[in-house]
Amino acid sequence: MKVGIRRERLQGERRVAATPETVTQLTALGLEVLVESGAGSESGHPDGSYTDAGATVVPELGLGELDVFCHVRPLSPDLVGGLRSGTITIGLASPASELPTVAALATAGVTSFALELVPRISRAQSMDALTSQALVSGYRVVLEAAIRFPRFFPLYMTAAGTIPPARVLVLGAGVAGLQAIATAKRLGARVSAYDVRPASADEVTSMGGTFITLDLDAVEGTGGYARELSEDRSVRQRELLAPHVAAADVLITTAAIPGRPAPLLVTQDMVTAMRMGSVVIDLAAETGGNVEGVVAGRDTQVTTRTGDGTVTLVGMKDAPSTMPADASRLFAKNVANLLALMTESGTVSPDFTDEVVAGACLTHGGTIRHEPTATALTGEQH
Ligand code: NAD
Repeated sequence: MKVGIRRERLQGERRVAATPETVTQLTALGLEVLVESGAGSESGHPDGSYTDAGATVVPELGLGELDVFCHVRPLSPDLVGGLRSGTITIGLASPASELPTVAALATAGVTSFALELVPRISRAQSMDALTSQALVSGYRVVLEAAIRFPRFFPLYMTAAGTIPPARVLVLGAGVAGLQAIATAKRLGARVSAYDVRPASADEVTSMGGTFITLDLDAVEGTGGYARELSEDRSVRQRELLAPHVAAADVLITTAAIPGRPAPLLVTQDMVTAMRMGSVVIDLAAETGGNVEGVVAGRDTQVTTRTGDGTVTLVGMKDAPSTMPADASRLFAKNVANLLALMTESGTVSPDFTDEVVAGACLTHGGTIRHEPTATALTGEQH
């Protein structure tokens, strides 16, 4: 069966859905891999490296001839129109925000797998792209903060005087937040963190951070995810966070609710109360932002309340793409492992009795299999 890998078209997207390493894995399964010329050039894989690994490099991928199409970014309805019925797609799908594409996939009879829907169980960890990409983002966000911060992160005791360590505050201690804590600790900062899920306290501590407990009821949804707070509790949360934010030199926000806009944790007023030279990096900027006024892909200088200087507010955008080589290495492995789970003797044949396959499937046989997305689409059509 033919598996196709295309050069990602979205501006700023530098990752690729297969690397030469995963091409070797896929061809060993009896699959034929077609790679569009230039697909891996931004992530350090020239065309020749794919050929050496056993793929066929083509100038342009003919979508209609593929049995399987692997991608990074969600597809567009236009592109889906070029796939034939029965084609299997694997990649990020953002089902909550890309409803027209989901509808197009169902109408076209495409069997689509959304990496966001891979169940977060031990057996599926090697296919969990949310985790692998959050790891990249959590690492990178700290480096972005460090290069903008006009001071050191570590404590220095020198003959010329003592420099205190930077105080880093991380809000949201999921995969990205925990990686941010670990990275800031490695750089020598003093790190504290908060998450609305009390279960994350032990994880924060094990990464070397100090967990902040607020006088706010715990909010835990299903599957280890947080639930959205009511408006009055959000207001209370911001009030309780305000002194911690004001005391931080570097604030990193990573809070998210699956399928919902990012929760607002920090107001402009809270930012202006920080000291001049402080840095705020919002990893949730692309989904609405945890920090009021943040713009994805832009640095904004916010004048401090005392008027003595500014705080740099950074809206992170395409965080995993800033490290395309390792982000692609992990992403491509996630894709290949999911594909391998469904492949027997060179044939890809999803077994829907397998909870990982069934859980990750978005559309199949003309229907939307993911209930919340089907419901959202029905609601939108009425
Ligand atoms: P996420 O990206 O959905 O959210 C990031 C963090 O934001 C979460 O920790 C969440 O609790 C937090 N958050 C949401 N609203 C908040 C608010 N108002 N204030 C403060 N924090 C808020 O989360 P994620 O990184 O995808 O992780 C979600 C869960 O999945 C975690 O429990 C994680 O341990 C678990 N997980 C399990 C596996 C597995 O294989 N078993 C793999 C990865 C993650």
